[in-house]
Amino acid sequence: MSEQENGARRGGISVEAEHIFPVIKKWLYSDKEIFLREIVSNAIDAETKLRRLVSLGETEADTEALKVEVALDPDAKTLTVSDNGIGMTEEEVQKYLCSIALSGALDFIKKYEGEGEGAGSGIIGHFGLGFYSAFMVADAVDVYTKSFTGAPAVRFSCDASGQYEIGPDERRAERGTTVVLHLNEEGEEFANEARLRSVLDKYCSFMPEPIYLSCGEEPEGEEKNEKPAEPKPINDTAPLWLKPASECTKEEYTAFYRKVFGDWREPLLTVHISADYPLNFKGILFFPRKENDFENVEGQIKLYYNQTFVADNIKEVVPEYLLMLRGVLDCPELPLNVSRSYLQSNGYVKKIAAFIVKKVADKLVSMKENDREGYEKIWNDIRLFTEYSCICDEKFYDRAKDAMLLPICGGGYKTLSEYLEAAKEKNENKVYYATDPVAQAQFVRLYTDEGIGICLFDKFVDTQYISFLEGKNEKVKFLRVDADAAGALKTEETADAGKNEALEKLFRELSHNEKLTLAAERLRSAEVPAILSLPEESRRFDDMMKFYAAAGSGAAMPATAAETLTLNLSNETAAALFAKETFTGRDRLLAKHLYALAALSQRKLSADELQAFLSDSYRLLTMIPENANEPEETK
Ligand code: ADP
Repeated sequence: MSEQENGARRGGISVEAEHIFPVIKKWLYSDKEIFLREIVSNAIDAETKLRRLVSLGETEADTEALKVEVALDPDAKTLTVSDNGIGMTEEEVQKYLCSIALSGALDFIKKYEGEGEGAGSGIIGHFGLGFYSAFMVADAVDVYTKSFTGAPAVRFSCDASGQYEIGPDERRAERGTTVVLHLNEEGEEFANEARLRSVLDKYCSFMPEPIYLSCGEEPEGEEKNEKPAEPKPINDTAPLWLKPASECTKEEYTAFYRKVFGDWREPLLTVHISADYPLNFKGILFFPRKENDFENVEGQIKLYYNQTFVADNIKEVVPEYLLMLRGVLDCPELPLNVSRSYLQSNGYVKKIAAFIVKKVADKLVSMKENDREGYEKIWNDIRLFTEYSCICDEKFYDRAKDAMLLPICGGGYKTLSEYLEAAKEKNENKVYYATDPVAQAQFVRLYTDEGIGICLFDKFVDTQYISFLEGKNEKVKFLRVDADAAGALKTEETADAGKNEALEKLFRELSHNEKLTLAAERLRSAEVPAILSLPEESRRFDDMMKFYAAAGSGAAMPATAAETLTLNLSNETAAALFAKETFTGRDRLLAKHLYALAALSQRKLSADELQAFLSDSYRLLTMIPENANEPEETK
């Protein structure tokens, strides 16, 4: 260091500075806007420190009007950040700004070289390079500072090569620090007010002391004979996540959600988290509302460090299946600058994620308990997502299971235990469900008439969800309405109808299904002549094959699996047919049509089947005798 005439001394930051500056520029280029966060958060820190010293009784400084001012002079291309925090003595400037903790920084850069865009942001902060990030956008930086201790004010000027000048300078008369950035070509964009404002919004919206922005000339109120408008801080110093959940209103949550995520809709559900030691983080999570299943609402988790924005879309702090959530998390335990790989391997981050899962599940349960009506209203919107979460994470299911609702055909919702409780008499441990309430309408009605509830599983994730539920509830069996209809709907006295092999053979021929089984039961309702059913297991297997075939493998569909046609002996037509051993042309037509009707009420007919069904129906019309009795309903 050399003494100069004016009492100032010259020096060089360090030998390595020549190396580090280009490195900072290179690695942080894509993320250069973070210089503003670094400089403003230093200013905020200086004020926080002052408050702490006051509360410790170390000083009696006035902390009433702490604030940070950001001033842009677009003509001079300077950006000035001033605070009235603790300031620095000359020794402190020497200690904190004239040396960079280089140890390890270069190794660190090399290690994360492969991480791509913005990877370098992990360097800043870890190594106390925060202040030097200014050189990404400035070719010279002046610092004017006066310590709260009353020590004389200091000026420190540094250029991009690391050459600096330090010495007494009384320009800063009041306690605090002013940092002036002389923007270079790369920093020019920040001389644009809109750009500057958007970066401040992104990083500083919730910082704990008020931040004021002035750009160019102040409005001259006096000349127009009016007072200049009271300047407003650009930030909210007391973000909602800091307020106890019990004191927050729905309106406040909605307003916060709209402001932070720019979504005009109301969130479906809000989870306010305040985790004490040792996790020590706060946050608010939202389930975004969607217009329909196809709308792809992107989740977004914003991570803050003591109210300073750190990063968007931190996927690591929530498990993958919760990624549709939106929210803010303030984690003072995480370093201000975090790299992806750090988050992925960090045990604390995993604990946060587990805690969030618990809180989300608890919120579902408490809403179901305390506001069943409101909960049922949003259930359809969160159903897909919650079912998926259960499948992905048993822990989530174990905690949320009492809040998992099953939609019931015809309206309403039941939890699994509510369903099983209601099913005790008629279908103990059996859950009947429909996958297509239109195609399976006849079955649904037959069951409903018997007082048996039918769940609706019409989403593609449901197939997996059903298997999952069976795995978790071993005694419980899920059966589609056409799996066991004859069994569930038959009368108590067994018909003991025996077999009719000739008729079975006929049905096999007419249905083109060599494996078809013919059965006969006396069902409680006489209306339906025959029911076609498919064992649950083989149907699920078929569904799976169809799913993969549809996914493009082109796998041939297996022949119709072992279906059972059950003739209803309570129905006259079916009973008469079952009594025959030999068949006339009329019997064949009747049998063919009966099978088609049973198939029609169970599934979609194939093109050939539909053609045959229609032409048979036309033929049948001609066979209705002139003097036939009109059925009751058409009279
Ligand atoms: P970090 O903030 O990570 O410690 P920086 O390079 O940003 O690293 O700052 C180094 C140190 O310089 C800070 O820890 C602080 O002691 C001091 N400093 C920087 N800006 C200010 C300021 N506006 N007021 C007071 N001290 C400051």
